[in-house]
This record gives sequence, C-alpha cells and structure tokens, in this order.
Amino acid sequence: MSANGKVAVVTGAGQGIGLAIAIRLAHDGFAVGCLDYDAKTAKKAAEAILASGGEALDVEVDVSQREQVFRAVDEVVARFGRLDVMVNNAGLGPVTPIEDITPEVYRKVFDVNVGGTYWGIQAAVKHFKVRKPAKRGDVVGKIVNASSQAGQVGNPSLAVYGATKFAVRGATQTAARDLAPLGITANAYCPGIVRTPMMEGIAQKVADEMGKSLEWGLEQWARNVALGRISEPEDVAACVSYLAGPDSDYMTGQALIIDGGMVFN
Ligand code: NAD
Repeated sequence: MSANGKVAVVTGAGQGIGLAIAIRLAHDGFAVGCLDYDAKTAKKAAEAILASGGEALDVEVDVSQREQVFRAVDEVVARFGRLDVMVNNAGLGPVTPIEDITPEVYRKVFDVNVGGTYWGIQAAVKHFKVRKPAKRGDVVGKIVNASSQAGQVGNPSLAVYGATKFAVRGATQTAARDLAPLGITANAYCPGIVRTPMMEGIAQKVADEMGKSLEWGLEQWARNVALGRISEPEDVAACVSYLAGPDSDYMTGQALIIDGGMVFN
C-alpha cells in the first residue's frame, strides 16, 4: 500500500460492505477510520489494514447518536490530521411486510439509516470546511452514502428499509447542492444483492419460510440479476473507490447503481 496522504472514515466498517470498503480505501492509500457499533469487529477491521501495511484507527460509535458521530470523526482527525472522504455506510435492513411495521422498527431504522447519514455528513463537513477550494469547482471533501437498489424501486417486504434508502438518495441530492460552494461533493452507491451478514439474514428468512437452504435463498435473488450472480462486497467497494477518488471529482448528487443489472435507469 502506498499512502496518498488522505484520510477516509467508513461507518459500519466491521463487516460486510463496510469492511470491504475500508480495506479497498486503505489499498487506495487512505488512512482509514473504521467506525462501527461493534467495537470488536471495528478493531479487527483496523488490525487487518495495519497488518497489510496500511493506516487505520478503530472507533466505536452508534451512528444514530449525533454527538457520538461527531466525537468519532473528531478522533480520527485528531489521529491522522485531516479528513478527505466520509463514507456513511452503516445501515440496518429488517424485513417488514407492510402490516408488521411498528413505530419502534420505523424509528430505529430511520434513526440509523437516515439519521446516521445526516450526522455523518455534518461531522465531516465540519472538517472539510477547514480547507477552502482554491477556485470554484475544486473538491476539498467527498461524501459517499449507502443507498440501495431498494432505494430506486420498491422491493417486496422492505417498505421501511426501502424508504430509508430513497431518503438517503434525497439527502445526497440536497447535500450536493448545498455543499457544492464549499467544494464538497456528495454521491451515493446503490448495491443490489450483496453476500454479507445482512443479506444472508434476509435470504435465510425467505428460505426458512419455504423450508429451503440459505444457498437456495441467495439463488432466488440471483435470478433477477442480469449478470447471473449475486454481488460480492468487493464489487461495491470498487464503486466506492471511484466515488472516493479523484476520477469522480466532476460528479455530485448521483446515486450509482452497482447491482449486476437489476434496475435500469
Ligand atoms: P451488515 O449488516 O453486514 O453490516 C453493517 C455494519 O454496520 C455492521 O458491522 C454493524 O455493526 C454496523 N452498524 C449497524 N448499526 C450501526 C450503528 N447504529 N452504528 C454504527 N454501526 C452500525 O450490512 P451490509 O450488507 O454490509 O450493508 C452495508 C450498507 O450497504 C447498509 O447501509 C446497507 O443498507 C447497504 N446495502 C446492502 C445491500 C446488501 O445486499 N447487503 C444491498 C444494498 C445496500
């Protein structure tokens, strides 16, 4: 790994897509703040990066708690001296058929998926603002948010989750407009069906209902994917690498669909 002198924070970096993003950004040369609700997995993520020659710091955080997010991002900046990229990846994906939605699940999922994105944006902007763009259009900071193909079209039994991911796209578009004068871009990534603990949980639930195996459950999703396989976390991390790097400097307010061909716009 050769350092690029830049610093990225990834929330939900302990497992799944966030872990793949943290490792990929470390390979791209970023020092990475690995934030997660689960202190143990956050530590493991940071240790994996350190072991392969990168720089990383693990911080425990609940992204639904605004002060905690500010504190965690401040800690990363105190350690590495700056912030260049904020990846608001942490999220919850419960299966909620319409009639089963409760006020509790609605609040919890919105607090984490949407609230966590707002607080991550705010905590990052505080540090991005330290650098002023030399001229209009120069980029001093990048926000990258986790949406989903379920934030593009309604998915069965995912009314709460899907609504949060539509909301993330909306917040990303407004952040792009509001923050452009500060030299900050905001984009989102929309994965399809990614083999992670979250997705395996959803597939297992579907499989259990049919008396079938987890592999069968995952296979059902692959049928809707033009490229014929579900995604690995690294497929998504490659997309985030582009959004975090200089090649996407002229892109803002977009939600890139990285789903193997499920949703076509
Ligand atoms: P995952 O459940 O496997 O991992 C999520 C990580 O976020 C975990 O490490 C968890 O501890 C952490 N986390 C959860 N709540 C948190 C909180 N309040 N504060 C801090 N950390 C918290 O999920 P994943 O599949 O890797 O998904 C990552 C992101 O990608 C999510 O936003 C998800 O909605 C989105 N996504 C996933 C898929 C998929 O198929 N897996 C598809 C589209 C979008």
